[in-house]
Order: sequence, then C-alpha cells, then structure tokens
Amino acid sequence: MANIDSVASSVSKVKNLKDGGILLGCQDITRFKRLADDKLAGAYDIREVSTLKPRIRIAGISKDVSESSVLDFLVKQNEFIFSNDEENVYKLIKFLPVKNKSDRFQVIVEVDIASYKKAISIGHCLIGLDRCYIFCGIDIFRCFTCNGFNHSSSSCKSNVICPRCAGNHSVKECQAEKLRCINCTNMKSSGNHDQINDDHAAWDRDNCHSYSAAINKIKRDVFGLSS
Ligand SMILES: [Zn+2]
Ligand SMILES: [Zn+2]
Ligand SMILES: [Zn+2]
Repeated sequence: MANIDSVASSVSKVKNLKDGGILLGCQDITRFKRLADDKLAGAYDIREVSTLKPRIRIAGISKDVSESSVLDFLVKQNEFIFSNDEENVYKLIKFLPVKNKSDRFQVIVEVDIASYKKAISIGHCLIGLDRCYIFCGIDIFRCFTCNGFNHSSSSCKSNVICPRCAGNHSVKECQAEKLRCINCTNMKSSGNHDQINDDHAAWDRDNCHSYSAAINKIKRDVFGLSS
C-alpha cells in the first residue's frame, strides 16, 4: 500500500478522525492532490473539507443601509473590531428584515476568529447612524427527517421523527397536544441530564438545551472558542 509519508512535505497539520480517516491541513490543495495522485495512486479517498469560519449576527440596521454597502459601513465605522486587513475576510451571508420590525434589518457575516471574539465581547457596533447589536451567528443544520444535528435529510438514514412531538410521523400529520423535542429526550435518556426539559418542539432554539449544547460543541471543537 502507498505510504502517506511520501506526501508529508506538503502537509501542515494532521488529525486522526473517529472513522479511521485522517484530516490533513495544507496550503495548496491543488498541489497536494497532484502529489497524492502521483504518490498514493488512489490508495486513499481524498475529499476536500471547506475551512469553516465563525459567523456573527448584527441586528438593528436601518433600512436606509443597502445590502451592498453594509459590509463597507461595518468595517469602516468599527475598525477597532473589524481590523483584519487581509482581503475578503468578511463575507455577507444573509441580509434580512428583523422579525416584526419592517424598517430594521439584520445580517449574518462570516468573520475571522479574532474579529469574532472582539465583536462578541463588545456586543455592539455602529452602522450608519445606528448602534446595532452583535450576537453569535454560528448555526447548525437540523435534519428535516430525524431532527438530528449536523447532517441534512438527503444523507439521513433514520426514520421520520416528528419535530413537534417526537412521534413516528411527519409534522404535517401531527395531532399531538403535548410538545416533545426528540433531541432533548435522547439527551435526557443518555444519562446525567435528568434536569433537561424536553417539552418544546425540536425547532424551538430558545428553549432547546441540546441545540445550545451542539452549538457550544462546535464553538469549542471547530473554532477553539470557550462557550
Ligand atoms: Zn437525520
Ligand atoms: Zn407529532
Ligand atoms: Zn430540545
């Protein structure tokens, strides 16, 4: 079998994964792939993992600030937070109205770790003439089939579980009176979490302990942030 050492010169980081794979960090993926094709001759299944960055949500932006200028305002008016001068560090992911306030907007912005930490600890910024509030914008997928986190229903092999009541039916067919979150129920039964409430729908992020636990895990494991 081909030896992975033969491509080691282009690798900057190595991490063992649970499924027996390894995660390699490298500067130049094209070069690595060429080298790997040549030296490893298909002995490994090589897949590219996108580099994840944290996101922040900023709310309270005036409707007078346009989608195309919001990042400009953000960076120029708040240099003490968004000081990274590498190009394209900040990326606008979403621009949408604040619920119940048609004249106010919110944005989701992808940032680097240093800016994320500063932004969250300060908690607000100036955009145009308004003081806007900054929140954590890190999010996770909830599967529409089983309600599990971090995968989508297209890759889900589980049975359908209702997000309202945790029954074995789709939400359209749900007639339950009592809400129950399957993720919190599972967490409860996994031990040491007896005090968790599961009397909410799986989409109810404000009350879902397993959702906040999953977000905190991503903050810690992926971004190295304390939660
Ligand atoms: Zn699923
Ligand atoms: Zn149901
Ligand atoms: Zn829950």
